[in-house]
Amino acid sequence: MPRMKKFLKNILNFLLPPRCVCCGKILESEDDLCPDCFRQVNFISEPYCRRCGMPFADMTGANADMLCPNCVKNKKNFFRFKRSAVKYDDFSKKMILAFKFMDKTENVKIFAKWLKVAGNDIFAAGADILVPVPLHYGRLVKRRYNQSALLVLELSKLTGLTADLTSLVKFKSTKPQVHFSGQERVKNVKGVFKVKTPAKIKGKRIILIDDVLTTGSTVRECSKVLLAAGAASVDVLTVARVCRD
Ligand SMILES: [Zn+2]
Ligand SMILES: [Zn+2]
Repeated sequence: MPRMKKFLKNILNFLLPPRCVCCGKILESEDDLCPDCFRQVNFISEPYCRRCGMPFADMTGANADMLCPNCVKNKKNFFRFKRSAVKYDDFSKKMILAFKFMDKTENVKIFAKWLKVAGNDIFAAGADILVPVPLHYGRLVKRRYNQSALLVLELSKLTGLTADLTSLVKFKSTKPQVHFSGQERVKNVKGVFKVKTPAKIKGKRIILIDDVLTTGSTVRECSKVLLAAGAASVDVLTVARVCRD
């Protein structure tokens, strides 16, 4: 009964009109953001490094294989691809902080849609399971939800890939990475993750999901642990990424 369905939808839209997830303005279409907010989103688009996803300000940084100098130098890496949907700037920061700390969990829907587009190369290469960057139990109790786990569940619905929220755990509490820079960040997360159920990880192509990619110390540490537990490959997919330009 498509007509009935449409009728009900119209009533629902009248009672609860769709609103921009960012500013709350009533929307005329089925989009998630109003045109004004959408214009402010800085999507990461080509050219970027084929491996780590770092955008090239211009093509002078790229080699013939579209790799950045860093990826050319570091042959041995702990991931296959890294991709992020948007640049981490004032606008995306506001949306992500609301999602992470202010219970604005409905933002997960739009973020998952962005992840699905940004992860195109990863899905094309093939993947088996989605794993969130875990929170320590103490932090989880305080915040009541892990924003990365919410992203995994929503992306799992959109892609059909299995969500694994329990295999990778953070068994040591750490200070938030924002308090550190560079090598201190590497040290802060060293040895704090472990795989609880290696049988579920073994031979799997894993996509590691997080909200923001900054220096990559956290995902690198997670990836090391997953590969040591027998993962076939690890990709990293995040909503936003800190970019140099
Ligand atoms: Zn808006
Ligand atoms: Zn690169």
